[in-house]
Amino acid sequence: MPFDLVTSFDPEYCPSTITKWRSTRTGLQIVLIEQERPIVEGYFAVATEIADDSGCPHTLEHLIFMGSKKHPYKGLLDTLGNRAFSNTNAWTATDSTVYTLSTAGWEGFRLLLPVYLDHLINPTLTDSACYTEVYHVDGEGNEKGVVFSEMQGVENEAETIAVLRSHKIMYPESSGYSSETGGLMGALRVLTSQRIREFYYSLYRPDNLCLILVGTVDKDELLDTVSKFDDELPSLDLANPKPRPFVDSPKAPHLTSNVIDTIDFPDKDESSGHILLSFFGPSILDFVTNTALHCLMMYLTDSDISLLRRKIVEIENPLSTELEVYTDDYIETGLNIWLHNVPTEELGNVEKRVFEILKEHIDKSEFNLEQIRDVVERERLQYILSAERYPSTLANLAIEDFVYGTKDGKTLNAAKTLQEFDTILKYETADWEKLMQTWFLYNPHAAILAKPSASLAKQLRVDGKERLQKRREELGEAGLANLTKRLKEAQDENERKIPNELLSSFPAPDPAKVKFIESVTAKAGLALSGASKPDNEIQSVLDADGAASLPLYVHYEHVKSNFVSVTLALSTAAIPEDILPYLFILLSNFYATPIVLDDGTVVPYEEVVKELKKDTIVESYHIGFDGEFYELVTIELQVVPKNYQKAIDWFKKLIWNSKFDPQRLQIVIEKTLMGMSEEKRDGSYMVNSASRRLLLNKRSARRALEVLEMESLLKRLCEVVKKDPSDLVSKLEQVRTTLFTPENVRIVISADIKQLSGPVSSWTTFLPSSVISASSLMPIPRTFNNANDEGRKLGGKAYLLPVPATESSYATLLTNGPTDFKHPDIPALAVAVSYLEAVEGPFWRGIRGNGLAYGAGVLRSIEVGNIGFRVYRAADAPVAIARAKEIVESYATGATAFEPLLIDGAISIIVSAMAEADNSYYSAASRKFLQEVLKDLGPNANQNYLASVRAVKAEAMQAAVMQFLMPIFSVETSHVFIACNPSKLESTTDAFEKLGYEVLTDPFGYLGEEEEDEGGESGSEGSYDDSNEDEDESGSDTDEDGE
Ligand SMILES: [Zn+2]
Repeated sequence: MPFDLVTSFDPEYCPSTITKWRSTRTGLQIVLIEQERPIVEGYFAVATEIADDSGCPHTLEHLIFMGSKKHPYKGLLDTLGNRAFSNTNAWTATDSTVYTLSTAGWEGFRLLLPVYLDHLINPTLTDSACYTEVYHVDGEGNEKGVVFSEMQGVENEAETIAVLRSHKIMYPESSGYSSETGGLMGALRVLTSQRIREFYYSLYRPDNLCLILVGTVDKDELLDTVSKFDDELPSLDLANPKPRPFVDSPKAPHLTSNVIDTIDFPDKDESSGHILLSFFGPSILDFVTNTALHCLMMYLTDSDISLLRRKIVEIENPLSTELEVYTDDYIETGLNIWLHNVPTEELGNVEKRVFEILKEHIDKSEFNLEQIRDVVERERLQYILSAERYPSTLANLAIEDFVYGTKDGKTLNAAKTLQEFDTILKYETADWEKLMQTWFLYNPHAAILAKPSASLAKQLRVDGKERLQKRREELGEAGLANLTKRLKEAQDENERKIPNELLSSFPAPDPAKVKFIESVTAKAGLALSGASKPDNEIQSVLDADGAASLPLYVHYEHVKSNFVSVTLALSTAAIPEDILPYLFILLSNFYATPIVLDDGTVVPYEEVVKELKKDTIVESYHIGFDGEFYELVTIELQVVPKNYQKAIDWFKKLIWNSKFDPQRLQIVIEKTLMGMSEEKRDGSYMVNSASRRLLLNKRSARRALEVLEMESLLKRLCEVVKKDPSDLVSKLEQVRTTLFTPENVRIVISADIKQLSGPVSSWTTFLPSSVISASSLMPIPRTFNNANDEGRKLGGKAYLLPVPATESSYATLLTNGPTDFKHPDIPALAVAVSYLEAVEGPFWRGIRGNGLAYGAGVLRSIEVGNIGFRVYRAADAPVAIARAKEIVESYATGATAFEPLLIDGAISIIVSAMAEADNSYYSAASRKFLQEVLKDLGPNANQNYLASVRAVKAEAMQAAVMQFLMPIFSVETSHVFIACNPSKLESTTDAFEKLGYEVLTDPFGYLGEEEEDEGGESGSEGSYDDSNEDEDESGSDTDEDGE
């Protein structure tokens, strides 16, 4: 075997083993992070350095998926992945390109690994693939190409412009860190396939590739599989080692003085801009200083009481609504601070103000040692929590180590402990002050003042139109026809059909071999009545602690975790309908409010925030439980086991002892109102919001707590609260007393129960003496019961929602569907939907593949009682919907048959979605309560569902499509909600009137409120995620598994 062990160790803070090998023959590296999870995740990293904005790294990332020399078929990885419980994905960062493979179970992973690696090391990189995927002009003269369109969506966003500008200031032109690795539009237009191939050959070599795996893996099989791959690679020329990207490149000189640069970004609304402050940090391998600087940045920004937030955000007439800090983990760290939504005329002043505040803080000796030590403790726990919960945490560490660490494993070994936190906990005030001076105050920085410009927005639009006009004229009819032909040829060459023999030569792995996380259920108090009593060791522990006599409902899930989650689920049906919207204010204010102790002392809100942060790791609230059951609200605290009693005490104080402070309430209301224009610019959001507001009655929390539904109420309260807040306060009191009653609280705890002292008895002090304990529980409310008359009988109406800020359209069609979680047809429907929605499946090829919409899919919500179909970012929504109808019809009537191989694939997608949802102890525990208790599916709900899904046959799928999906596309039985640019209102109205719908335009009267605005899609910062999945999936509308 060519692989030498480099290092192997168990991190002290998280149950796992990290092992690294390196091939002596080729230099290929493997890092295995063993953790107990149902999903095996692979991260295949290449260090990619380039000194221009051509976008070679990003375009290459796309081209890798277009086929390998052994397997020259586009989409093969996805199609095989569908059969092997897998998902593939990739991203391009400034310093690396990472390809991912996540698979439910090792068996499927092992099958796909060789095929995936062949794509990485032997891609075809054809001219045709480059033509369709990177950049081309279509037959109508429009500029297209998957990468080009992707960058078009982000290139003119304020964040993208500011980050790139900052990098250009911080790093010389010759540095890879100064590049836009995603590719600038101008550069993509002239990028050749030859240039991409050259880039490929210079960097995609085995000694510059690292395979990182996280999960439960058979080590021998892994080494065996990768050894076979390694054998086929050219051996490393040890006498002439190739330079390592970045590590062997010249270091960037540091700034010698501050650089303040103003840039324009296109926006019709010129009221507020952004500031980005960037500083050079220490070497990435200086773990102690980097950790200290991270904590220092959190000290400045992480809560309402942090220095910068307190002085810039939490003031009357805020100078910014949001602060954000992040680091660029380059060979020398980059330290960055964002100030978002700064009043435009204040941009320059606020930049200066930041440094004045820092300087004053030190000059006046106000550095708070206790506060920063709290931050360090909390950050340490947050890190442990994320290492336990998310596979990406340790994987990212391994990627960073591969790009910048030493080859002997020494730097990776540092991941064994969290010593750096211990070291900085001993820092004294002087140490922290020195750090602040060295790295922030006296370290030259780049400041980008991003200023909105309406004229630039207009200019861009005019330029685009003129360019198109000019191009069309230059090309002429003949030229355009030529381009149509050329595109068709390229597509034909790319879209070679994958032979069935090839697909069936890969055996489908056995779903029964996927190992789900097992948690142990136990119950106390009211949770014991009615249901069968669990018989296990944990139940005995609870029984011995007084489980039988507790006057509360408590449900326990025992898991192997270092953390305790305590969730209170409450029914909103308890609150009188007329004051239900006030619940929103109560929740928004829940964790940052003054408290009156039993002896009458008032604890100010700053103190509450500080102490709460000290005792807990996560505090949150949600409408719904786990993204379903929207008539419930949940509040949750996560703590370490020794703080279990403290979590209970906090709940008690926050619920019954909090004091409604008009000033705090005013801030909540103002912030919510400020955020609303953001929501009105989001087509996807507007569609969801409209369907809630128009189809549910006011009893429903899903409607009443919808932000736009509350707009007029909040506007009124915003005035009232300044003059006479007494009515608001008394309504909040009423919400509090009706919501928090013992018969309305379901407590759900996930923890290693054996680590808790008094798992049951700790709750005996929870209820105040004035509250009468309950003997029975309120029922679990369901949203479908709150549908209004229109919602109960859908059909015939099309609501058009004009959204000036969007160029593309978003549409949802809804019909009434089953409301019973035990409905016998659910498995067949789930498999049929999974089949239609699969990557490279019928919707994908028919809708996305034809450029009709970026995404399309079926919505299923048993909770709401709706089935639907949605398209998003559609170029032409009516055409996309018509295409979807044809596809559904052809399967419903049997004109197109379900192919057996692909049915296996559809089932496999469901298996992997289930494993994905259960991929940590925390989520597995919460899902178990959701399935077994809230949905009343009883013990082993997962296993039972899997068994019924595996038994589904083609006939049942066809019947399900006929019964449940066909009504979505029929005017008699469906409603349409569509958000589009006002310029498309007329054509859209025509299209739906022709289908027989009654078209209702602008039901909430938003048109005229805002003027025409620029379109813009949101992008991620610094890297380009190429998700195969719905990228703007809201989640809350879909029952992923249809359970
Ligand atoms: Zn991309």
